Amino acid sequence: MALSKQNVTEALRGVAGGDGKDLASRLLWVSACDTYASVKLQRGAEREEMARAARAAFGAVEKMAAGEGTRVDSLIVEFVDDGGSVVQTERFGGLNQAKMAKGNEAGMEMPGRAAGSESRPAPAPQAQGHTPIGGLKPTPQGGAETLPGVKHIIAVGAGKGGVGKSTVALNLAVGLARRGLAVGLLDGDIYGPSMPTMLGLESLETVVHEGQLQPFVTHGIKCMTIGKLVAPDKPLIWRGPMAHGAFKQLTEQTRWGELDYLIIDLPPGTGDVSLSMAQMLKVTGAVVVCTPQKVAQDDAWRAAKMFQQLGVPVLGVVENMSYFVGDDGKVYDIFGRGGAEHMAQKLGVPFLGAVPITMALRANSDKGDPTANYTGEDRAGTELREKLEGLVRNLEGQVALASMKLGQERPTLRVS
Ligand code: ADP
Repeated sequence: MALSKQNVTEALRGVAGGDGKDLASRLLWVSACDTYASVKLQRGAEREEMARAARAAFGAVEKMAAGEGTRVDSLIVEFVDDGGSVVQTERFGGLNQAKMAKGNEAGMEMPGRAAGSESRPAPAPQAQGHTPIGGLKPTPQGGAETLPGVKHIIAVGAGKGGVGKSTVALNLAVGLARRGLAVGLLDGDIYGPSMPTMLGLESLETVVHEGQLQPFVTHGIKCMTIGKLVAPDKPLIWRGPMAHGAFKQLTEQTRWGELDYLIIDLPPGTGDVSLSMAQMLKVTGAVVVCTPQKVAQDDAWRAAKMFQQLGVPVLGVVENMSYFVGDDGKVYDIFGRGGAEHMAQKLGVPFLGAVPITMALRANSDKGDPTANYTGEDRAGTELREKLEGLVRNLEGQVALASMKLGQERPTLRVS
């Protein structure tokens, strides 16, 4: 018998916490799997009282587990204030003891990350809790590695913010999944994560199992975002080494499983995260998103050149907000269509396609429903779906070519 939401909840019933109140009356959330569990309790008045409550909770869960013929490898007790922020974390169980010695190398306080059974404060999981990491090597893709189980890593970048980079990254991910592929989406835009909104993750809880983040599974893809690990109203200020640490931990401590594609939505520009990614991961290639205007192209050009300098092949350019189709079917080239295609030609990289401006795309992003971009039936909806599907097909083609160049895959000839 394993630990479950029910038996952990039941175990806390009738147990007096540090303040004498029934622990079950303070219980806000339970998650359990195998021999691992985590609970959130309403915060108490002082640290020692919360530590006592956590010890009582562990004692009760351990006793219940022994009675059920199982054990507790990890129990994480988080105390949460009225605003939902974790103010104190207590960790118990054999797993936490064992991992305590290893410590937290990059200093990022993932919720529930196994770090020891001693009582210790949980630093607010934003910038101040992070330890700078040294040893950044400037060798492009030199020591980079593949992620176990992940076939292709595709970075999506842009020269500037607001051009629709996250929108394109997400719709590529969903489009690939609709073709039957296993797809993960890493929201690497650690300064302005969009995926909690665009994928409708707001009401979902972050789950940690065996010290690893479980990706959110929705709209046919797996996703991880820093937006679900920090309070939404806190500014995300990262110095270079902190950005590196945050990106590294999001990438490596998420249990992605087997994936055909991991799409990484990078922050805009040519900054630290792109550099970290290129150093850490063997990236199959990058997609550069830009709008048709000249100013966007200048920045996109720089982003494309950055990828090339980092040894990441540019798989192609996407022109977003390329044109607008009115209800009457009339096409308006609001920003002057075709600029990005021209830029791709000058760069000598493929043009993957154009995405129109549509009201539905904006609305679907705001309500966290990217699948709807592939199911619209009116004139604009059909146009959008066809363009997105075209992008996905072109990307797959470029990935196949890039993989052959990298020696990852050989062309096959089927005789029938
Ligand atoms: P970036 O990641 O480049 O900062 P986003 O993908 O967050 O940009 O897009 C910025 C805003 O523009 C979002 O509100 C998004 O829904 C909207 N948007 C992006 N592309 C389109 C499009 N083709 N049509 C309509 N709205 C779009």
